[in-house]
This record gives sequence, structure tokens and C-alpha cells, in this order.
Amino acid sequence: MAVVRVDEDLCTGCGVCSDMCPDVFELEDDVAKVRMEEVEDDLLDSVKEAAESCPVEAIIVEE
Ligand code: SF4
Repeated sequence: MAVVRVDEDLCTGCGVCSDMCPDVFELEDDVAKVRMEEVEDDLLDSVKEAAESCPVEAIIVEE
């Protein structure tokens, strides 16, 4: 289980995270939002891949 956040000041709304992991991320008004309070372990690998792919390192994963 992990808490996942997006730094909205950094996010450019590129859509990489929501394309890679739509279960967790969605775009709202050109900013990525996390759809849940806590992310279950089975989604974490996909979240981490999205975080590594974020061009501005706006995704924060706290395990
Ligand atoms: Fe924002 Fe990063 Fe997601 Fe792109 S990949 S929408 S910059 S959080």
C-alpha cells in the first residue's frame, strides 16, 4: 500500500501517467489527479513505472 501524489505545480498535463496507469491517474483540467487515497500493492509497479516516465518528476510515491 502506498500514498501517491502529484505535484500540481510541476505537472504539465502531458497524459503519460494516465495513459500508462489509468486505474490510478486521470487528467482533470490538464492536471493529473490520483483517483484514490491509497494505492494497493498490485497497482504499485505500474504507478512506479508511470512515476519514472513522468517528464517532470511530478509523481510522488510514499510507501
Ligand atoms: Fe503530469 Fe507527469 Fe502525469 Fe504528465 S506524467 S500528466 S507531467 S504527472
